[in-house]
Amino acid sequence: MPQLGFGVWQVPDEEAERAVATALEAGYRSIDTAAVYGNEAGTGRGLAASGVAREELFVTTKLWNGPKQRWNRDAVLRAFDDSLGKLGLDHVDLYLIHWPRPMRDDFVSIWQAFEEIAAEGRARAVGVSNFRPADLDRLAGASGLVPAVNQIELHPLFPQDELRALHAERGITTEAWSPLGQGKELLTLPAVAAIAAKHGRSAAQVVLRWHLGHGHVAIPKSVTPARIRENLDVFGFELDADAVAALDALGAGPAARRIGPDPAVFD
Ligand code: NAD
Repeated sequence: MPQLGFGVWQVPDEEAERAVATALEAGYRSIDTAAVYGNEAGTGRGLAASGVAREELFVTTKLWNGPKQRWNRDAVLRAFDDSLGKLGLDHVDLYLIHWPRPMRDDFVSIWQAFEEIAAEGRARAVGVSNFRPADLDRLAGASGLVPAVNQIELHPLFPQDELRALHAERGITTEAWSPLGQGKELLTLPAVAAIAAKHGRSAAQVVLRWHLGHGHVAIPKSVTPARIRENLDVFGFELDADAVAALDALGAGPAARRIGPDPAVFD
């Protein structure tokens, strides 16, 4: 799995083709979409138009295990087929349960359908998103198949130390969503600006470098071609130890906070 990928949340379907094509042309090989983003079809068109060989691509999508439906085995398999059809692919590289929705108490049975999908090779790997330690424990108690990935909100203002340690212990890859803190406060903090100036890089680039140094997979999103390229241009420099320590310290500072929903209550 490439350590840096391209996320397409909030990219309208009609723009996704161009955004994905721009990303692939810039050199990204990993694309992160989801059924609920409504842009699997546009993403698939972008993949096809790029001419990049399928075996070079790493495509992730997610089951929208939303509240409108009971998620039994057949519903999961239908949703997966629907995603593959929209993407125009015969397999994805990673399929994720989008949210644990612990109050619905159904992710273990959803995972059983994921085991089938993985066994058939129609998803090369399966994983979860937004799972808390308790959710991972519950899954581990019910299935021998360890999620390959847990995709979670993660950035210097929300560093998720407990989950990262648990993932490392269990061999689960940590994938950071909103790795740039959605391009909001994080990128404007004086501490980040100082590190960027010292390294001659942008704020987004030093934050992405922080992720790479900690071993996270990161999937920044942009629809602006120059930013799409900038966010991938992070392999030619390293942060010094003071910079890493300063970014680590933000997680305990006054601006630290979660941006997205809390998985404990999100339904
Ligand atoms: P992000 O942290 O990637 O921030 C994206 C925003 O930052 C852009 O819209 C833009 O405003 C800004 N930005 C991007 N590049 C920039 C640059 N170089 N300089 C300045 N500003 C820049 O936020 P995101 O889109 O929320 O997260 C990335 C991806 O993570 C999503 O597209 C999606 O694929 C995934 N995601 C998953 C979940 C989940 O529940 N699993 C939730 C949210 C996002």
